[in-house]
Amino acid sequence: MENHDIFDVVIVGAGPAGLSAGIFTMRAAMKTVLIERALPGGQMAITKDIDNYPGLRETNGFDLTDRLMEHVKGYGLEIVQREVLSIDPGEKTHSILLEGGRTLTARAIIIATGGVARRLNIPGETENLGRGVSYCATCDGFFFKGKKVVVVGGGDTALEEALHLSKIASRVHLVHRRNTFRANAMLQRHVLSDEKIQVILDTNVTGIEAGEEGVRAVKLKRLAEENEWELETEGVFIFIGFSPLNRLVPPEVLKNRMGYVITDEKCETNIPGIFVIGDLREKYANQIVVAASDGCIAGVAAARYVELKKAGCREFYDTKNLEMATFMEC
Ligand code: NAP
Repeated sequence: MENHDIFDVVIVGAGPAGLSAGIFTMRAAMKTVLIERALPGGQMAITKDIDNYPGLRETNGFDLTDRLMEHVKGYGLEIVQREVLSIDPGEKTHSILLEGGRTLTARAIIIATGGVARRLNIPGETENLGRGVSYCATCDGFFFKGKKVVVVGGGDTALEEALHLSKIASRVHLVHRRNTFRANAMLQRHVLSDEKIQVILDTNVTGIEAGEEGVRAVKLKRLAEENEWELETEGVFIFIGFSPLNRLVPPEVLKNRMGYVITDEKCETNIPGIFVIGDLREKYANQIVVAASDGCIAGVAAARYVELKKAGCREFYDTKNLEMATFMEC
C-alpha cells in the first residue's frame, strides 16, 4: 500500500459484506484497499454450520470465509490488516486514519464493521460457542430439531426466536431475568399460549455446562433464592441485544436510536460517498446472504459514484418521484 495514494474505494471490515463489496469494486476496476483489524470473515467466521446461504446446502463459517477470500484475491483486492482509528468525511475525498499514524485518502468509503451479539459473560458461554451456544436461531435452530433448548432474554428478539424455535425443538425454556417482558404484547400473547414454550421468570442463567458432545445443561438461579439448579438442554440461544459496531461512523451520519446506520437503497449514507453495509446498516434481516447483497449494491454504487465524481458529476434520486428516477448533475 503506497503512502500517499488516493484510493477510489476504501472498504473497512472483511466480513461477508466487506469482502463482497471488494469483488464488485475490483470488477469495476476501482483502485480499492480493504482494511481489517483482525482475521477475515467477521461473525461469519465463528459460525459453525451454515445451511441457508443460497447454492451452498451445507457449509461452515471457515469454509465460506476461505471461498470468499479466494474469490476476492482472484480479483487482486489488496487486504491490509490494521486497525482503523477514525474516518473523517471531506468535500472531494474522505480520510481514513490508521493505527500507526498513516492516513489514507479515498473518493468513496464502504464501512462494513458489523456488530456483536451481547454476551451474558458467564462460565461456559464462549467455550461452547458453536457447540450448543448460539446467538442466531435462524442460523442454528435447525440443528436442534426435536431437542430441548433454552432461550435467554425478554425482548422482542428473544420472544420471536423462542416462537421460531418452538416449531423445531421439542421444548423451549424461555428464561428471563425479570418478571415482566420487554417484548411487545402480541409476541407475549403468542409465547404464553404456545404449549411448547415454558416461561421461567425472575431467573438468571449463571453458567453453561458441557460434555464431550457439547452443551448438556444450564445453571439457573432465581432472584430471591440462594441455590442454583440445573436444567438439562442441548442448546442455549442468547438474545439479550445486539450492538452495532458504529464507532468509526462519522457523527454527522444518520443513525437510528439503536445506533444502526440509515442508508438509501444504494447503501449510501446522508454523506455522499460514504456507504454502510451488513449488520451495521438498519435493515430487516441480518443474514450472511443479506450482507453479501449489501456488498454488491454498495460496490456497484460506490464505483458509479467514483466514476461520476471523476467526471465532475453526481447522480441523485428524486425522492418525491414515486418511480425513483435518477438524475444527473454535472
Ligand atoms: P432488547 O429489547 O434490548 O431486549 C434485551 C433483553 O435482554 C431484555 O429483556 C433484557 O432484560 C435482557 N437482557 C439484557 N442484558 C441481559 C443480561 N445481562 N442478562 C439477562 N438478560 C439480559 O433487545 P432485542 O430483543 O434484541 O431488541 C432490540 C431492538 O430491536 C428493540 O428495540 C426491539 O423492539 C427491536 N426488535 C423489534 C422486532 C420487531 O418489531 N418484530 C424484532 C426484534 C427486535 P430487561 O428487560 O430486564 O432489561
